[in-house]
Parts: sequence; structure tokens; C-alpha cells
Amino acid sequence: MYSDRINSLPPYLFATIDESKAAMKEKGVDVIDLGVGDPDQPTPEHIVESMCKAVHDTQTHTYPSYAGMTAFREAAADWCKKTRGMDLDPASEVLTLIGSKEGVAHIPLAFINPGDVALCPDPAYPVYKIGTQFAGGEPHIMPLLEENDFLPDLDAIPRDKLDKAKLMFFNYPNNPTSAIADKKFFEEVVQFARDNDIVVIHDNAYSEMTYDNYKAPSFLSVDGAMDVGVELYSLSKTYNMTGWRLAFAVGNKDIIAGIGKVKSNVDSGAFDAIQYAGITALSESQQCVADMNIIYQKRRDVLLKGLRELGLDVKPPKATFYVWAPVPDGYDSVGFAKLLLENAGIVATPGVGFGSYGEGYIRFALTRSVERINEAVERMSRLDI
Ligand SMILES: *Cc1c(COP(=O)(O)O)cnc(C)c1O
Repeated sequence: MYSDRINSLPPYLFATIDESKAAMKEKGVDVIDLGVGDPDQPTPEHIVESMCKAVHDTQTHTYPSYAGMTAFREAAADWCKKTRGMDLDPASEVLTLIGSKEGVAHIPLAFINPGDVALCPDPAYPVYKIGTQFAGGEPHIMPLLEENDFLPDLDAIPRDKLDKAKLMFFNYPNNPTSAIADKKFFEEVVQFARDNDIVVIHDNAYSEMTYDNYKAPSFLSVDGAMDVGVELYSLSKTYNMTGWRLAFAVGNKDIIAGIGKVKSNVDSGAFDAIQYAGITALSESQQCVADMNIIYQKRRDVLLKGLRELGLDVKPPKATFYVWAPVPDGYDSVGFAKLLLENAGIVATPGVGFGSYGEGYIRFALTRSVERINEAVERMSRLDI
């Protein structure tokens, strides 16, 4: 019944985890879920209020524009100017997305012909690879190794793959490794993209989620980046708005136009009322973002202290709400996740779920309170590992 592209999908590991989690809850276990990368705090009230007002305005009830409301694209451009000094033309260099997942999944359709290669990091957000395959392309894996600070080694990509490569995905601050990239690496990417005629997609979903006074540089602020790429910004993690489905792409106008062509044929844009809420999020006080970062930083410190006491060697991440820890000797990532769930009632995500180079690691999401994380640490300390 199903197409080859559906039949060839890898088994969905997260569904298995959900099943085991449900089974534990069924047994009455008080499960602490550090598995999902979904903020536990609500969307800030001023953003919710703005949505309520907008939804009562009947003008928002019709089809939105394909590229997004002019006012939203202007707010996005202003936010990029304010937060990272970028100068963007809202009309041609900004595009509203129905979440960055939507953007990532559709982008290969604009640039990949059957047989073309897209360079995809591993471990990574799975949609880079799947989106490429859905477009008939071939993902070429760029391993993210700890010894390279979880940055891809661009020199290691074989010539024959480079000749067929049309697209490259990357993401810093990174999910799942929580690694960061500096401007020097972004400059390398620009040169690499120019030399090999590759469209670059920087998925910047954790752009604002940073700690210890660290500010993540944006790819587009590097000289020449506007010639080769686009950057995806999402309101999901920044403003606790995962359910609202709102993001935007900024950058090279020809790339933006290509993505827009695909989108105008498969969706009809983001609900205007949600874009009004997005305007409020982007243009009013950013205090809510700073407040969230303080909360995540405290949780990070509690979890890290606990993991160290367990003998797991983890460096404090400067960004994202993930802690990427090597599993103890004698376990693989699925085995250790199983042990945590069955013997401590803790859900964490096995690294292999993000690709084969994630094997040997486990990802904890800082999406539960300090009290719950403390409780998790306590339970882990009672494990015999
Ligand atoms: C959460 C996440 C996304 C999805 O963001 P949406 O805007 O909610 O679709 C995209 N990329 C990465 C790396 C993520 O972790």
C-alpha cells in the first residue's frame, strides 16, 4: 500500500520509548521525563493576549499570504537587526514558516533532484535526512565527533559526494550535542559553499537559548553568508511556542524565493492571528527570554553536578536545553536509557536515535523543574552502574 519512501523510513525509536514510558506509568511509576525537547513553561502571557485579540479580528480568518504577513516579516527583520545587527529586506529576504520543521522538510524539494546529495550532520535532528530522502536525494552523513568539538570535518567529505552535493544542513547551538560554533567555523562554511556551489541551511532553533553570558553568533553575520545561505529562526523554543507552529527563514533572496515556490504549492501560509502573536513576541520586551535562560541554567547546573557525582564526564553546555552525556562503560545508548527508565523511572533519549554517530551518548532535556531534576539525580545515584 505504501510508497517506497514511506517503507524505507527507519523504525521510529521515539515511538518505542513512548510505549515503554506508558507501560511504566501504567505500573504506577512516577516517571520523570527528561526526554522531550519541548519547553515545560507556558507561552508568556503578553503573547497569548495578543493572539486572543487577533483571533477576534475577523480579518485574520481568511487565507493568509503565502510568504507571510508583511508586518510579521518586518518584525522578523527588525528583530534580526536588533539582536544580531543584520540588515534584511523584509519583502525578499524573509519568509514566514509554519515552524522550522516545515521549512527543513520542504527545502530539499526546492534544490534537490533525484540522485543529488545533501550533506547532513549525524547525530542530528532527523528531518534533514528524511526531507532529503523524500525529495529523492541522497543524504551524505557528516559525523559530528567529540574530538572535533562536534563540528563537521568539511575536508573529510569525499570528492564524488561533493560533486553531487547541492545542499548542506547544519545547526549551532546544536541539538542534540549542545555544541556551539564560532565565526571562524561559519567562515569556513561560506568558503566551502562557494568552492562547491552548495546551498547552506543553518537551522538556528536555539539561537537565543544561551548561558554564562555566551551569545551565539549567527551564520548570516559572517561575510559572504548572504550569497550562499539562509538561516532558520523558530519561535518554538525561544518563546515557549512549540504548539503554535511559527518560524521564519532569512537570507539569500534566490534561496528564499525557491523555498517560497515549494510552499505556495503545498501550504497556504501561517494563520494571521498566530503571526500577530509572533509580532508581539519579536517586538516587545525580550525579558521573558532572559528569564527562561536563568531557569534552564539553574536546571543545567543541578543535573551536571549530579552526573559528575555519578562519574559521568560532562562539560556544562553554553547553549540549548540539552545535556549530552557519554553513557557509562558496559552500556550502549539504548541499554542505558532502558536502565534509567526501568530502574529509576527516568526518561532520557538514547543518542543513537539521532543517528549512528550518537551511539555511546544519552540526551537529557532540561524541561523539568529543579526539584524534579534533583529527584532524578537522587534516583540515579542509587543505581548500580
Ligand atoms: C525543535 C527543533 C526544530 C523544530 O522547530 P519548530 O520551529 O518547532 O518546527 C528544528 N530544528 C531543531 C534542531 C530543533 O531542535
